[in-house]
Amino acid sequence: MTITITTPYRIFDVSLARREILSPNMARLTFAGPQVRHMATLAPDQRIKIFFPKQDGLPPAIPHRPDWYELYKLQPPGERVPMRTYTIRYLRADAGEVDIDFVLHGDNGPASRWAANADLGDPVQISAPNRDHLAGNQGYEWKPPAGVRNVLLIADLTAVPAAIGILEELSMLSDPPKTQAFFEVPDAGDRLPLPQWPGLDVHWMVQSEVAAELARYGALMIDAAAKARLPQGAIASIAVPELAEIDVDKDSLWERADTRDGSFYGWVAGEADAVRIIRNLLIKDRGVDRSLVNLMGYWRHGRIRD
Ligand SMILES: Cc1cc2nc3c(=O)[nH]c(=O)nc-3n(C[C@H](O)[C@H](O)[C@H](O)COP(=O)(O)OP(=O)(O)OC[C@H]3O[C@@H](n4cnc5c(N)ncnc54)[C@H](O)[C@@H]3O)c2cc1C
Repeated sequence: MTITITTPYRIFDVSLARREILSPNMARLTFAGPQVRHMATLAPDQRIKIFFPKQDGLPPAIPHRPDWYELYKLQPPGERVPMRTYTIRYLRADAGEVDIDFVLHGDNGPASRWAANADLGDPVQISAPNRDHLAGNQGYEWKPPAGVRNVLLIADLTAVPAAIGILEELSMLSDPPKTQAFFEVPDAGDRLPLPQWPGLDVHWMVQSEVAAELARYGALMIDAAAKARLPQGAIASIAVPELAEIDVDKDSLWERADTRDGSFYGWVAGEADAVRIIRNLLIKDRGVDRSLVNLMGYWRHGRIRD
């Protein structure tokens, strides 16, 4: 009997089909399985959850039911299978395959460890949009206004997969916007292939090539936010009276742009404390209209998040 799952997100059982090393610190893992035919991706920064085996090696077994998240949260934290957030890089639903690009940051996290060490055929589970039951804006923030004329992207390596997807999407437009892209990466070899067009200005900022104070996580992204060119249309007409501080060790930093004005659109993602500083820098110090910028803490140095 075929059961149709009618929730906008659903659980997919998949296994590792291929691993391709893209750069010194990034690998593309291709996951496959018949259920992937029912997966959807709605934007280049489409976020999904991946469930990895626990320390004991037992594969995740999230039930295929709509209330899986409530059940998951009912378990004591130490007993849950690790769940981490990633970005769909490419989906070939009809072929039953999905690509996800993993930063290989060492064996200190279950996701990075699994990405580096898993054998072909090893299973994981994914929570992702359900192609059979889509419901609007699910799990992505890249929603530029039609005809946007200036784009600013600032990302570290965790957000480079989404950012390159954004550049690929923009490059397909008949008249792509002027775009500044600043990417902080650990090594020169992490500069990945990008699309090109005359208005695209890319800055790869390599941590291993700069002095120690600029090599710490996020410092080069902050530097980029200080020097990015801002068109007049990016600046708020009324100065921000105050900007509430965010404690990135307690709360997630996630602020969405909300605009139909095509003069400027920003997308900033990476280490959360760096994004917090960039938020202050762009909005408070440089006067950027906060409704024009997405600001997203993708991970927090020294902390574990799911
Ligand atoms: C919307 C969204 C989309 C994302 N997309 C991607 C993606 O496509 N590819 C990707 O690789 N990541 C992506 N991330 C980031 C990823 O979820 C985190 O890096 C996550 O912490 C990795 O889990 P882990 O099990 O390897 O490490 P954790 O168990 O979470 O952390 C263990 C330790 O490693 C540190 N750590 C975590 N990430 C890094 C890192 N990148 N570099 C150095 N130290 C780190 C932590 O601070 C902690 O000290 C995304 C995050 C979000 C919110």
